[in-house]
Amino acid sequence: MHVYKFGGASVRDADAIRNLAGIVRQYGRQQPLLVVVSAMGKTTNALEELFQLAYDGQDYSTQLARLSAFHQSVAADLGRAQETQAAAKAEAPLLSDLLTELADRLATVGPGDYDRQYDQMVSFGELLATCIVARALGLQWLDCRPLIRTDHTWREGRVDWPTTERHITAAVPALLAEGPVLTQGFLGGTAGGATTTLGREGSDYTAAIFAYCLRAASVTIWKDVAGLLNADPKIFPDTVRYPEISYRETIEMAYYGASVIHPKTLKPLADRRIPLRVKSFMDPEAEGTLIHDCHHPMLAPAFICKTNQCLLSFESKDFAFISEENLEVIFGALAQAKLKINVMQNSAISFSVCTDYSERRIHQLLDLLREHFTLHYNTGLTLFTIKNYDAASVARLTEGRGLLLEQRTRSTFQFVCK
Ligand code: ASP
Ligand code: MG
Repeated sequence: MHVYKFGGASVRDADAIRNLAGIVRQYGRQQPLLVVVSAMGKTTNALEELFQLAYDGQDYSTQLARLSAFHQSVAADLGRAQETQAAAKAEAPLLSDLLTELADRLATVGPGDYDRQYDQMVSFGELLATCIVARALGLQWLDCRPLIRTDHTWREGRVDWPTTERHITAAVPALLAEGPVLTQGFLGGTAGGATTTLGREGSDYTAAIFAYCLRAASVTIWKDVAGLLNADPKIFPDTVRYPEISYRETIEMAYYGASVIHPKTLKPLADRRIPLRVKSFMDPEAEGTLIHDCHHPMLAPAFICKTNQCLLSFESKDFAFISEENLEVIFGALAQAKLKINVMQNSAISFSVCTDYSERRIHQLLDLLREHFTLHYNTGLTLFTIKNYDAASVARLTEGRGLLLEQRTRSTFQFVCK
């Protein structure tokens, strides 16, 4: 069997969904196919905003009406059985029921565990999208939440692999024998039945989870770019596509923040040697990129840019050296505040880390460490990484920029700047 994953851009409106239908019809009908779909367009951002308003006790009616109207208009445009009652077991819920449930649940949001409530609300994007797409294409609809078991790490659920594999292998092959199956990216569920999410942009990971458990022959991620490129074409004008690349190189690029594939996607695929194709949904005949077990010569330098960075520096209050004991306290606090280290560097009496900026998490960190350390931080920064760098690529990227922190290994050059 094969797995296809379609991201937000490939289901952004009715035309995009018709295009997706064409791809599934043309390439997917020959073999058993599981299709994973993300929330439509920027719906996840819209749900985050809605949730924030509800959590803060503010009026969100305009935003909710806009989100509902958008999904209803796409469904209406696509027509076909959008509002007929679910007949078969594997049929999607009614869009109107889902929208009512979203409204009802938003009304219950309030003070309490922020991240847990976030998952219960923001997960509606994928439910709405798969509901619309399944009905429009006449595909079997599968709720992935009872299958993908995670722990209670809200917003970044950690997958319980043995349980998940047992669930998926028990439920999915029989459905696949009936025809293509459509399910949600990004979502999982706890043993108690609460919804979890797997981390922003986590739908790629979902495709890998199903592929791993079902021992898929391949995974294809359909994107709005021609394949895996050496840089984001929105930022760098002259990109090159890698026709073929190893799992390892791709894992490293994803780790440094190349937004093309969610970083957790590669390991399950590499473990079972399942090839991953990245293809353009606008040009499905084009070659794209094949990620698999391969050896290749030195690749073209990859430029990876992470914006909205925060550079923190910790100084011990008593001018003591940054010792292992101090680092232990700092790392513990970073983990507790769920701040991930993108780069770090230490000197005699100070230690610096670059993380993604989140005001809430930075304040939590400050509270945890205030007693022992003086903290300084700068926000609004950019972290650039050049993988497989050479002198020319370094010169090109650093020219005219004030570097706040810089680090190089044999293969990777990284710097933080304004
Ligand atoms: N819809 C989710 C997000 O935007 C997951 C995904 O797109 O992969 O983060
Ligand atoms: Mg998305």
